[in-house]
Order: sequence, then structure tokens, then C-alpha cells
Amino acid sequence: MNLLQKLFGGLSAQPQKRYYSFHVKCLRCGEIIEGRVDLDNDLSVEYESNRDVYYARKVLMGDNKCFQRMEVELKFSSTRELLEQHVTGGEFC
Ligand SMILES: [Zn+2]
Repeated sequence: MNLLQKLFGGLSAQPQKRYYSFHVKCLRCGEIIEGRVDLDNDLSVEYESNRDVYYARKVLMGDNKCFQRMEVELKFSSTRELLEQHVTGGEFC
């Protein structure tokens, strides 16, 4: 390995926009819907006693055969690790 390879070979690629993807299954019709949270733009910060946490809320709906709305709430740490997840009207799968 030459010097240039040593200098540049270990660098990881450009940081990418970070998304958190998840799937929920509609409790009414069983359809599985993918949702995606933009970790740069969709999070709102809230302050807990000893830390900052980040919330994302999404409302998902399947195709037009079923009008069940699934409300997804995700909670992330400051390092964007998922801490908690809740969904009403569906379930994570
Ligand atoms: Zn449905």
C-alpha cells in the first residue's frame, strides 16, 4: 500500500442523508406500508430531564381501499438511535 492509498483508502464515503425506514402493517386490512423519517428534517427536539430526545411523527395511509390512518411516533436519541416507537392503527413489522 503506497502513501496515497494509506491517506485516502481508509476514508469512508461522503456522509449521506440519513433516513430511518420502517414498516407498519395496517390492523384493518393487513397492508404493509413503508414509512421513512428524514433524520435531518423530520425530527423535533424535546428536552427530558437529563438528555435531549428527538421525536418524529408520521401519519401513514395505505392505498385507497382502506382509509385506516396509522399514526407513528418515533423517539430517537441525540445520536439518532431509536429509543421508542409507537403506532396506533397498525403494528410494526
Ligand atoms: Zn388498511
